[in-house]
Amino acid sequence: MDWCKCNSGTTEGRAKCLPFTCHSAQSSVQVFRVAAAYRSRVFPIRSGGKILEFIYGRKPTKTKGGLPVTTATTHYFTSKEFKEKQKTTKAFTCSPDEVINATDHKQATYCHLLFGLLYSNQVEFLSSTFSFALVQAFKAFEQSWQELCTDIRDGTLSPRITSPELRRAVVGSFTLDPELARSIEERCNGLDDWFGVIPKLWPNAKYVYSIMTGAMQPYVKKLRHYSGDLPLVSAEYGASECWIGVNIEPTEPPERVTFVVVPNLAYFEFIPLFRRTSFAVGVDDFDEGRPVGMGGVQVGGEYEVVVTTFTGLYRYRLGDVVQVVGFHNGSPKLSFVGRRKLILTLTIDKNTEKDLQLAVERGSRFLSRAELVDFTSHADLSASPGHYVVYWELCGHEEEEEEWLLKECCRVMDEAFADEGYKASRRDNGIGPLELCIVEEGTFRKILEHFISKGGAMSQFKMPRCTSDPVLLSILNGSTMRSFLSTAYR
Ligand code: AMP
Repeated sequence: MDWCKCNSGTTEGRAKCLPFTCHSAQSSVQVFRVAAAYRSRVFPIRSGGKILEFIYGRKPTKTKGGLPVTTATTHYFTSKEFKEKQKTTKAFTCSPDEVINATDHKQATYCHLLFGLLYSNQVEFLSSTFSFALVQAFKAFEQSWQELCTDIRDGTLSPRITSPELRRAVVGSFTLDPELARSIEERCNGLDDWFGVIPKLWPNAKYVYSIMTGAMQPYVKKLRHYSGDLPLVSAEYGASECWIGVNIEPTEPPERVTFVVVPNLAYFEFIPLFRRTSFAVGVDDFDEGRPVGMGGVQVGGEYEVVVTTFTGLYRYRLGDVVQVVGFHNGSPKLSFVGRRKLILTLTIDKNTEKDLQLAVERGSRFLSRAELVDFTSHADLSASPGHYVVYWELCGHEEEEEEWLLKECCRVMDEAFADEGYKASRRDNGIGPLELCIVEEGTFRKILEHFISKGGAMSQFKMPRCTSDPVLLSILNGSTMRSFLSTAYR
């Protein structure tokens, strides 16, 4: 074993250390090459082009035994396999290594944007590991575009870049270009609420590429807004533990994307899951069958993925639920259903990340002036009966959103939890009315900062959809401006 790597820990609550060898980086390259081949059939790119990639590293630490520890993405971006891929693929990332490896993600984002703009005509596509990072980057762009134009016009670098390594790497690697700055300014000024900013500023970009499924689904709407008519291509299915499958139909929208299992990445087994309705406390609503191999899965069936990896994990349960939707050359084609773990559960109620996502989607449809930026939840047992608290951050004209309308969002969200245990408990008051808390703009940014300050990497960040972490709860409760109790089940 060469390294340890950490998974994001944002879905499980705590990062795990996992083994990493040169095989891990080689399989990442294999997956990227296979996926790139499928994409280039439908979206051909020019040789020698650039990719505006929002990728972020993290400084390695050491285990007691002296093994370096970092995130899977950092490990990959700093591996010799990645560097080799950069040299041998048709298009490679715009930013120098110092930007990718910068520890301050805000400064790195600014520099990624700067290089992306400097090479704007050569950019063939835009990308990030998870779509959250792309959305964050364009939110940052909304705030910093004038400063970026100043830097391009004058050949300077904003004082917001304080890291000496970053300054050294960026200053001197470009020359002033007043004409480019003027044209960027003109194009930005012509945009309505940043709709279609990506094709406007990167006119040769063919698509936007990133993981947009599972926990990233809530960011697709905003990404579509920034991307205008540019296709969104949902990226591959993998985990820090190992890669699993490739999207071989890049023209499918993120809502319909599937992944073909690549059989030589690991030994794959699948635990059949059968939905049941039981009111047992603390267990999810699946009965499990005996694990089957790739050839034993049935179309339509739901399974938990189990991997035996080249790095030494033996029959390791990933905790992801997938549905088999077909086969490609004998390999199962999977649709990602969600994390198996229950996130909202007080008594006999059972709700996964996906159940919460659906309820939030239903409730937020009623918003008329404001837009949902992000959300999370908490199962509050501090009083009896316990109740769900759902936190929303809104932007746009949040203050103009009327009380009655937010109350209605709250009621609809409460009714949208379809789990029988929840509904029964709500009816007999075993669970109290759902509470919707509207937090100040920027609150979810603070959660991201907290995660990064604990050593997490932006590239693998997934917003925790439920939390009982006292720090996060104090950020959320301290930023709550308005709260509403559901009037459902009266
Ligand atoms: P990490 O903690 O960064 O290793 O995250 C791995 C987890 O991210 C997987 O177990 C999945 O739950 C999720 N994930 C990775 N790729 C995808 C994808 N394409 N679609 C949905 N979820 C994904």
